[in-house]
Amino acid sequence: MLKTVVVVGIPGVGKSTVLSIATKILTERGYTVKLVNFGDYMLNYLKKIGETEVRDQIRRLRLNTQLEAQEVAAKAIRRDLETVSRDKFIGIVDTHAVIKTSLGYWPGLPLVILKELRPSVIVVIEANPDEILARQLRDVGRYRKDLTSIELIRELLQINRYYAVASSVISGAALKFIQNSEGCVEKAAEEFVRVVEEL
Ligand code: AMP
Ligand code: MG
Repeated sequence: MLKTVVVVGIPGVGKSTVLSIATKILTERGYTVKLVNFGDYMLNYLKKIGETEVRDQIRRLRLNTQLEAQEVAAKAIRRDLETVSRDKFIGIVDTHAVIKTSLGYWPGLPLVILKELRPSVIVVIEANPDEILARQLRDVGRYRKDLTSIELIRELLQINRYYAVASSVISGAALKFIQNSEGCVEKAAEEFVRVVEEL
């Protein structure tokens, strides 16, 4: 059976770094891992229909367009994970529990999306607000002015928890919090690996 872990965390928390290290460890331990980024799938579709070429523009598009892209992405991810599913296979989806759109907070994992992704567990990566701010400022390839202030980061961390809890309840997936502290990214990755090994 296909085992899927959905991973959420606010921008700058270090999700991608933790996941790439965890993927390496899991592969060494005999797992076949497919790590997918939900935003990549949305962007692919949005490029195809001529809406945007830029990742950080997605959350600024009309909500209906985002909804459409979200559903297309979830279906495509499901299909891709099914295709490679085999023994000791693990699907990891790097995404968001909540998106701060121009209109307001919007769920990244509502029921329609969870029905496609069918996660066994939702992992929430968190970090210290000061470290998140520093990482966001270092990440010059991204346009995150709408997210970058210490007060907002604190608010996002809290809102992110509320939305992750809601997604856990409606999907029946377990919820696991992992702390990614500066200089201890390997520890966070190991903790993630242990979650997978428990599935
Ligand atoms: P990321 O590279 O993880 O920052 O994702 C890029 C963008 O993709 C985010 O800023 C969101 O606009 C969008 N995105 C990612 N996951 C989801 C989701 N589950 N639902 C809606 N939008 C998402
Ligand atoms: Mg990322």
